Amino acid sequence: MNFLTVEQYQFVKKQAKKILNTCVTSRDSKVVQAVQMLVSQEIAEKLNHISEEKQKILQPILTLQTKEQLESFINELKQYVIPFDMPTESEIKKLFLKDKKLKLPKLDQFNPIEVSYLSWFDSGTNRKYLVYREAGVLKGVRGVFSPSNNKGICTICNQHSKVGMIMVSKKGTALGTYKKRGNYICEDSAICNEALTDMNRFINFIDVIQQKY
Ligand SMILES: [Zn+2]
Repeated sequence: MNFLTVEQYQFVKKQAKKILNTCVTSRDSKVVQAVQMLVSQEIAEKLNHISEEKQKILQPILTLQTKEQLESFINELKQYVIPFDMPTESEIKKLFLKDKKLKLPKLDQFNPIEVSYLSWFDSGTNRKYLVYREAGVLKGVRGVFSPSNNKGICTICNQHSKVGMIMVSKKGTALGTYKKRGNYICEDSAICNEALTDMNRFINFIDVIQQKY
């Protein structure tokens, strides 16, 4: 019974860490209870309309007190995650037909239950690639990526992390002209995926960078 999308799984994981962190740092049981309540509400909102049976699976989150319990809770959850539907190499190639010397990543580096999108960087061309599914359809976007050596807010996952600028070009209306649009995103997409708990934010980023509006 897989019922958690990767994004929801990452969300629950983040909430679980929040509870443990509160237990470790606060001796006040009222504070702990307040956080437990808040987490309960946030999970209910994020995973609305889940059955009682599924709620039971998530229930242990409220009693987490040690790092070991947190780890075993997360391990238990993994079996319920709907993995990212991994594309084949040829499916990825079809997304970037203009890139004749496309350098593909090793697909087994991605753990399908930990990623909502795939991303890799080609240091030969300074291009960063993002591959994702929207309503099941495989899509891709790529842009020139420049690391900033600074920390900032990532447009995709909204966390404060080491970011760089991705710049995507689109043909302008006049022949030979290009319009560019850039945004800061995490340099490390594994970290980004872990912090990505809202796919709407990701899709919104894609729409903006591709100048859909
Ligand atoms: Zn990010």
